[in-house]
Amino acid sequence: MRILKGVGASRGIAIGRIFFFDNANHRVQRRTVTDAEEQLARFESARREAVRMLALLEKKALGQVGPEESAIFEIHQMLIEDCDYTERVTSLIRTEGYTAEYAVQVAGEQLEELFKGLDDPYMQARGADMEDVTVRIVRTLTGESDCALPDSAHPAVVAARDLLPSETIRLGHTGTLAYLTSGGSGISHSAILARTMEIPAVVGLGEQIADVREQELAIVDGFTGTVVLSPDDTTLAEYTKKQAEYRARRERLKLYKGTPNRTADGITIQVDANLGHTADLGAALENDADGVGLLRTEFLFREETGYADEQTQFAAYRAVAEGMDGGRVVVRTFDPDPGKMGEMLGLPKEENPALGCRGIRFLLRRTDLLYPQLRALLRASAYGNLAVLLPMVSSVAQVRQVKEMLAACRRELAGKQIPFSDKLEVGVLIETPAAALLSGQLAREADFFSIGTNDLIQYTLAVGRQDNSLRELYDPSHPAVLHLVEMAAAAAAENGIWCGICGEAAADPGMTETFLALGVTELSVTPQAILEIREKLQSVDLSEARRRVRAAH
Ligand code: PEP
Ligand code: MG
Repeated sequence: MRILKGVGASRGIAIGRIFFFDNANHRVQRRTVTDAEEQLARFESARREAVRMLALLEKKALGQVGPEESAIFEIHQMLIEDCDYTERVTSLIRTEGYTAEYAVQVAGEQLEELFKGLDDPYMQARGADMEDVTVRIVRTLTGESDCALPDSAHPAVVAARDLLPSETIRLGHTGTLAYLTSGGSGISHSAILARTMEIPAVVGLGEQIADVREQELAIVDGFTGTVVLSPDDTTLAEYTKKQAEYRARRERLKLYKGTPNRTADGITIQVDANLGHTADLGAALENDADGVGLLRTEFLFREETGYADEQTQFAAYRAVAEGMDGGRVVVRTFDPDPGKMGEMLGLPKEENPALGCRGIRFLLRRTDLLYPQLRALLRASAYGNLAVLLPMVSSVAQVRQVKEMLAACRRELAGKQIPFSDKLEVGVLIETPAAALLSGQLAREADFFSIGTNDLIQYTLAVGRQDNSLRELYDPSHPAVLHLVEMAAAAAAENGIWCGICGEAAADPGMTETFLALGVTELSVTPQAILEIREKLQSVDLSEARRRVRAAH
């Protein structure tokens, strides 16, 4: 038995065999052979198999995620069936004597270079597609498993170096019992997705991941960040019991469905869901969300096609607004992570991405993206109760600029007789200390505040949210953080606007009483945490908690 210690990023206990998710890109060695005809036949059969798999994936993605995601597999099929592509591979096999897999790799790299060197961003993005299809055909040829993730018939614990958010989404549709990564942090977007999908996760294992062996039995404790490899019988029995207890607790929480989000002394608190994708709407409804307190819109950005066009955005916002059936849906404008998306968006390399061109700073420079997003939001506002949230605000002028743009947008839509609601609220995401310090002025410009503790903590305490080595300093209950929360909530109350929290700390029942006592009136959490927060709320005597907070000052 061996024990590894990492960071518990998504709660729950899983017990299963290890499955390595090999998302590293393998290179084929150059080899020449004399049997060109055999290599050509191998290439042709792998190409057909890849097209068949892609058609299946396209169908599956259409049912599970939507037309936008499925279209990518259609593009991949087109690339493989393109004459230029097949001729290149065929000619490399015939003239250079390459093996089929080496010829596929070389042709793929040539085309990838070609696409990436073109001026048109759409064609440039095809370069990444080319890379993807090359890996697929090479894997078919070398017999490497195409199904890089466990299927639902053989559920397993996935181990990986790191996972991109898009890869984490894929885990949700497979037999993934839990996942372990060498990198990552509990506040990363991958971890947030894991919590939404209720997949237990331990991240930040560092070099300990080298100790994990394919197929060995593992226990993943997402509460404490512990991984037990090849457990002995006593440990296995202990964790099996814990797992059953946690499942029973989840079942008991379901009894809170249909009951109010009301404190013991009768104060109603709005409890909303955080969504990372329109596909999470079902989980929000299933868990009784009052509304959506944060819809992150980065899922609308795709490496291959860039940020979704206005029509696609409109359809997504409208679907969530209609799905919530009158419940308020707060949509955050595009907040790219310069570290991950910067290159694709043509941003200069950042010395420190967390302090870089993010959130509203980015969109005010890229009004070609901001304007269509505002227009899509306004159009969708005719179909439900929508609000817009501005991330990374650090000055009053930024909010004014967006409001001016919204006014122009309204004039344009009215002129074209396109329906929209007059009531679209504009909120500020309080996630920089500057925004909290300026909350008095911002509250006069905004219709609401939502406090983004994930970033507010990192910027206030100067501790990176991804930095596991300083984990003990990343503290939501630090007096400096609470002071800023209180300032924002007080400024909101003075100006008659609401103030919520949509950072991960809102889902911690241990913080509920403190946040409410400081004046927060809404909590937006991962859908799976809603009933737990409701249970907590029903036990809180808020008037008493407020008295305690006042007495402490
Ligand atoms: C936050 O910073 O608290 C927040 C909600 O935004 P994100 O986690 O997407 O940065
Ligand atoms: Mg943030």
